[in-house]
Amino acid sequence: MTDHKILLSEAEIPTHWYNVIPDMPNPPAPYLGPDGQPVTPEALSAIFPPAIIEQEMTQERWIKIPDPVREILRQWRPAPMFRALQLEKMLGTPAKIYYKYEGVSAAGSHKLNSAVAQAYYNQQAGIKRLTTETGAGQWGSSLSLAGSMFGIDVRVYMVKVSYEQKPFRRSMMETWGGEVIPSPSPFTDAGRAVLEADPDNRGSLGTAISEAVEEAASRSDTNYALGSVLNHVLLHQTVIGLESKAQLAKVGDYPDVIFAPCGGGSNVGGMMFPFLADKAAGKDIRLVAVEPTSCPTLTKGHYAYDFGDVAGLTPLMKMFTLGHNFMPPGIHAGGLRYHGDSALVSQLYHEGVLEAIAVPQLATFEAGVLFSRAQGIIPAPEACHAIRAAIDEALRCKETGEAKTILFTLSGHGHFDMASYDQYLAGKLEDYEYPDDALAEALKQLPKV
Ligand SMILES: *Cc1c(COP(=O)(O)O)cnc(C)c1O
Repeated sequence: MTDHKILLSEAEIPTHWYNVIPDMPNPPAPYLGPDGQPVTPEALSAIFPPAIIEQEMTQERWIKIPDPVREILRQWRPAPMFRALQLEKMLGTPAKIYYKYEGVSAAGSHKLNSAVAQAYYNQQAGIKRLTTETGAGQWGSSLSLAGSMFGIDVRVYMVKVSYEQKPFRRSMMETWGGEVIPSPSPFTDAGRAVLEADPDNRGSLGTAISEAVEEAASRSDTNYALGSVLNHVLLHQTVIGLESKAQLAKVGDYPDVIFAPCGGGSNVGGMMFPFLADKAAGKDIRLVAVEPTSCPTLTKGHYAYDFGDVAGLTPLMKMFTLGHNFMPPGIHAGGLRYHGDSALVSQLYHEGVLEAIAVPQLATFEAGVLFSRAQGIIPAPEACHAIRAAIDEALRCKETGEAKTILFTLSGHGHFDMASYDQYLAGKLEDYEYPDDALAEALKQLPKV
């Protein structure tokens, strides 16, 4: 077994992020302001530093990673890639299964890749405070840690259901100096409006984003940071795909199909965009986003302009959406409970460049448990979605006898999700299909542009 762990040297950490925009079949649909016109950089400057706004809109293919950011990335990058030999054996598949493991960051997931870059650019712009939202807690943890590295105070609005379900993610954020507030909160207009309509409301990412954006827009010392969805976040995550390509090249391999879990699209963009130029040049490669059936944004949502938050404070983005009033069911893959999706991922899916599938909750935990027994790592529930899809593909290969090369993103570990595993092991978890009438209702609430 010579090739089960594929490492790169520190010198092989990417020096530049890859921007997919120049390689897309069509230019991206612009973000729109309240007047229906494309948003200007000035409009975004109330909540983002200049370098981030530039990255959000740039047409440059390669963006240099600043030295201080790359220096910090060295703490856990290059992230390892493994060939899942034991899993292949257990499945009896002729397929080769590789996974890129992002759980090696101190925060336990890929999200620290972008948190460090965002904290750096805000510090450069003289910002002293950042607000953000967090669903499952992975992003809030990452930004709390990155804030502490750059001397920035971080306030995290945490979706209330997660605040209650995952107390140790809260402790983690507080240990790194973050301040954590359950959302909806009484401290913002957006939070108060939700609480007034429903005092027992357990929160959503859309609500927490409204609260964080409202606070950032109202204070000149405070900016806002988002953990997924936006172009610059996907850009920062392309270190995942760039490293993966180099790692597979080391063992002389190339994927036939790649799977990544999809919430807001930063794993999908981060892993798949660097492979997209090859696909455009004729490479036969399938790129598949995997989402939950309980939050089927790409597979069942509407492709339309919608807000990124409940209160309508964000620009309008053309994306697949379940409606900005979406109230998520309490499934355990908290990082996948967002009503919308990255505009870039949405457009590429709409154009048929990316594919998407949805998988039910129980099947994802079953896959996660099987994976942990084969490979050791206990995966985050979000990552279990990609594992499920990879296992199903490997089982199809067993039937057809095809020796495909499968790659997936193991986006984080599940050490703070053991309560979910407990429930799964005790037979208490359920499947949940997002109802069709809720989808129809969401369509009615889409803003008219
Ligand atoms: C946030 C998160 C996701 C989903 O977010 P994307 O932006 O869609 O990638 C997946 N896995 C983990 C571990 C996460 O923390």
